[in-house]
Amino acid sequence: MSLSSGCGCPNRDGTVGTGGCTFCSEGGSGEFAARFRNDDGLLTRMLDGQIEEAKSKIRAKTDARKFIAYFQSFTNTYGDVDRLRELYTRAIKRDDIVILSIGTRPDCVGPEIIDMLKELNQIKPVWVELGLQTIHDRTARSFNRGYDLDCFKDAYRRLKEAGLTVIVHLIMGLPGESKEDMLESVKFLAGLDPKLDGIKIQNLQILKSTKMYESFVQEPFHIMSMEEYTDLVAEALALLPDKTVVHRMQGDGPRKLLVEPLWSLDKKRVLNMLTAKTKSMLR
Ligand code: SF4
Repeated sequence: MSLSSGCGCPNRDGTVGTGGCTFCSEGGSGEFAARFRNDDGLLTRMLDGQIEEAKSKIRAKTDARKFIAYFQSFTNTYGDVDRLRELYTRAIKRDDIVILSIGTRPDCVGPEIIDMLKELNQIKPVWVELGLQTIHDRTARSFNRGYDLDCFKDAYRRLKEAGLTVIVHLIMGLPGESKEDMLESVKFLAGLDPKLDGIKIQNLQILKSTKMYESFVQEPFHIMSMEEYTDLVAEALALLPDKTVVHRMQGDGPRKLLVEPLWSLDKKRVLNMLTAKTKSMLR
């Protein structure tokens, strides 16, 4: 279930940068997260309310009884450590939550935060999701990521040393990147030591009201077709070590904001195409 911790992002508030990553929407790349309601009073009541809201949405489609608490939007380790400890402890101790998953940036995992995540990891598994998107610093500068690859390497090493499960996000189709550039990012992750636990791969999505949208309108760039994207992902998957868990293979942008690529709305078709291509590669 997608939840919100109420954190902001240092790449939007001026601490690291302003305006954020150019593809990032108003919702902090977490449009499906339950809403954070500051006016609910107690932090714990706020969290329980979000979880119940998310559960009722999921239960409308499945009979799931156990859930991953996924704090998705914005930067969920950017804030007061004691407040975050209270929030995440509350989440992880619930009987219906089996895993705590925290989306963040590599420049927001200082020693105090890692100690807190390590403590929580003694209760139930904690996953840390790092939004890398690309290993190429020139691309990262062009979309205003606000940190370089060395920062990622350092954070990754410290998170793994703390015994945490690390999942890394990549975006395919960033402007200026060739197919070789994108596969180089995958190869880099495939060769990490200690070994990467999981990966989320998605196609670039152009969302309304983002800086990326403005530049796309002024100077349109190539958007991969479904065929191109699924070919690329099939090739990328073949590069990963056997035990790397693939948590996501396509973007999941909100229908009302998505400008391109519209084919990504047909999730089932993309997954079917990927399944067919992956099977034929493994044969
Ligand atoms: S780090 Fe995440 S929340 Fe912050 S601007 Fe980039 S995508 Fe958005």
